[in-house]
Amino acid sequence: MKHISFYPGPSEVYSQVPIYVQEAYERNILSINHRSDTFIEISYKAISFLKEKLNVPSDYTVFYASSATECWEIIAQSLIQQRSFHLYNGAFGKKWFQYTQKLKENAQLITGYAFDIQEDISIEEVQSQVWDTHEIICLTHNETSNGTAIPLQSMAKIRQAFPKHLIAVDATSSMAGIELPFAQADIWYASVQKCFGLPAGMAVMICSSRAIERALKINARQHYNSLAFMWDKIQDWQTTYTPNVLNIYLLMRVMEEAPPIGEVGQKISQRAQANYALFDQLEGFGLLIENSQVRSDTVIAVKGGVSSIEEIKKKALSQNIILGNGYGDWKNTSFRVANFPAIPNHNFALLEEFMLKNSS
Ligand SMILES: *Cc1c(COP(=O)(O)O)cnc(C)c1O
Repeated sequence: MKHISFYPGPSEVYSQVPIYVQEAYERNILSINHRSDTFIEISYKAISFLKEKLNVPSDYTVFYASSATECWEIIAQSLIQQRSFHLYNGAFGKKWFQYTQKLKENAQLITGYAFDIQEDISIEEVQSQVWDTHEIICLTHNETSNGTAIPLQSMAKIRQAFPKHLIAVDATSSMAGIELPFAQADIWYASVQKCFGLPAGMAVMICSSRAIERALKINARQHYNSLAFMWDKIQDWQTTYTPNVLNIYLLMRVMEEAPPIGEVGQKISQRAQANYALFDQLEGFGLLIENSQVRSDTVIAVKGGVSSIEEIKKKALSQNIILGNGYGDWKNTSFRVANFPAIPNHNFALLEEFMLKNSS
């Protein structure tokens, strides 16, 4: 029997994915040359549908990469000469920060600020720590590890406070799930195994013209995915290496069929509210994030005692329901529920029924 998965990545794929895979096979897509006209057409359409459905400004460029982790590398190698600033409150943002420190010669010039999971970012605090010489400010829009999200008003405030800095945003577990204010930052990226509802093994990176200008000025070209080199290739909708053609095809089909992101985001937000209300009332469990202002719509973190968490996950599994493990500091005292668009409402109805029956 097929599991119902609420794992926040890799997560449930769209139910049409097997049909699209078959279609790709029958249309001879699986072995096409990545310099061929057929590939170029698929890639062009994938990017065009994505920009249309997600409301990406026309002067932003969409690139393909292999993973969000690779995007951390691309940014460090192609957009940071010496100094970046990292704002984080959880495991993924912290990893990005540490990754960048490891990649740059002078690690102490890569600075960061950890904020509390129950609190919104304090602009005053950030202003006191970001210098003019920081080349880029790095944010994690949706912190998958603890179910927080940076409120969109705060994203706008950061943009206003730092009009000259490049701003890079890890939106791995929110892009394609909620409407993102692309114009408020310069680099946005996400791997596709979360809100895009696709199999793992690819990421998209969306850059403003300012970000591209910076990359071309720095003109680092020593890596296969140096941004300046990627820019050359994407002029013809191509990549610097043989890409995940099947996933690009799947992205094209999923984006072609997707409703506009405004609609998707509204449904996700309503479903998030319903789930927060449900988990809040359950005996023995509670919401990890008490401040509703900073709760994520796409990843719901539920806290509980070590034994209740262990037990509920086990019970769920025995009924073919997979709850996401807690992550990092909250590994044993929370579980996570992905609220991604590919997961049908029906699965949430089953989850509700299960939780009401099985919480003490
Ligand atoms: C999942 C995740 C990543 C890592 O994605 P990979 O595809 O494994 O590189 C990075 N950042 C966030 C916020 C994530 O949720």
